[in-house]
Amino acid sequence: MNIHEYQAKEILKEYGVAVPDGIAAFSVEEAVAAAEKLQKNGASLFVLKAQIHAGGRGKGRTVKSGVKGVMLCKSVDEVKKGAEDLLGDTLVTIQTGEAGKQVQRLYVTDGVDIEHEYYVGVTLDRAKGQNVIMVSTEGGVEIEKVAEESPEKIIKEWVEPGHPLYPNQARRLAFALGLKGDALKKGVKFIMALYEAFEKTDASIFEINPLVTTPDNDVMALDAKINFDDNALYRHPDLKELRDLSEEDPFEVEAGKFNLNYIKLDGNVGCMVNGAGLAMATMDIIKLAGGEPANFLDVGGGANVETVKNGFNIILGDPSVKVILINIFGGIVRCDRVANGVIEAVKDPEIAAKVKGVPIIVRLQGTNAEEAKEIIDNSDLNVISAVLLKEAAEEVTKAIA
Ligand code: GDP
Ligand code: MN
Repeated sequence: MNIHEYQAKEILKEYGVAVPDGIAAFSVEEAVAAAEKLQKNGASLFVLKAQIHAGGRGKGRTVKSGVKGVMLCKSVDEVKKGAEDLLGDTLVTIQTGEAGKQVQRLYVTDGVDIEHEYYVGVTLDRAKGQNVIMVSTEGGVEIEKVAEESPEKIIKEWVEPGHPLYPNQARRLAFALGLKGDALKKGVKFIMALYEAFEKTDASIFEINPLVTTPDNDVMALDAKINFDDNALYRHPDLKELRDLSEEDPFEVEAGKFNLNYIKLDGNVGCMVNGAGLAMATMDIIKLAGGEPANFLDVGGGANVETVKNGFNIILGDPSVKVILINIFGGIVRCDRVANGVIEAVKDPEIAAKVKGVPIIVRLQGTNAEEAKEIIDNSDLNVISAVLLKEAAEEVTKAIA
């Protein structure tokens, strides 16, 4: 689960990670009030930031007013003007795709004098099975580019999950950034606090880009991206509250209501599969046969009429779907029952209307697979049966050719 920058910075603050003062705003009036309050506390420069679940805002532009997603404002009036331009407009950045994202929330922060921009990230290193903290002096730019072109400029320390980050590790990282004196001390404290926040919140990504030093030798996070591990959210009801459904794919939100694991992808072959492993293998085989999956969908072990119906509704809600591949392994759930479930679901008037012209290829393997194939073959629906996964994938590519 992703959260907004202003929410991420609230969390960082709780853990003692230095961030500039800031106030979230949902309207122009609130943005003005926020700037006035910051001004009262001594701010003379403000930063107005569009809050969307995507980075690259500083270089991105809005569609209508053509303004940037991150603006330096020298007065409350400039904040007001910027808020009017941003709110409701669509911001397109390198991370949003062409469609962009509508700006519904703003963040007004103290403008900070930047001496140097750095990068700090914490995530799980899957290959090592350990958490990794990465720092780079090349902050404020796309870190993926740095990783590709000059990987030696990213310095890493690993931590065994459940163990703390040791102060000497944080010191090594702060040294690697070239921090000295007061900034070094603050940098060490920053990294220690950041790691603690990462670990305690069961996060999967913490990304501070940029981390900055100021002329007064302060060290703080000017930007913050946090992603939490969904599987650990049950341990954090307070963090769950931070979810912004309007930022998420509507189909994925809908699928979540039915306990279906659905991820939208870019292709045109809709997939309905039981089990995550089989779902991934199915996507691989579609690609091997020259197709492109439109989604990942794991309907779970049950695969009864209801789940199949819900699955159809989700898949068919995506207009790019041209063919559907159902791949079910019948173990405990017998294939003949799944086959009847598919046929019943396709006969449902709501689904029948949507499924028109979309061929369905069903591959059922396991208990009672032969009976299942017979049931499918004897139905007068636009459903094609396949026994081997390879055959199924070939039918799919034939159907969209
Ligand atoms: P992103 O483009 O979505 O990653 O948004 P950021 O929060 O990283 O802001 C983009 C850039 O705006 C930063 O890299 C900074 O160069 C600049 N910026 C952000 N906040 C401040 C600030 O308080 N003062 C100054 N001078 N620049 C800022
Ligand atoms: Mn950034």
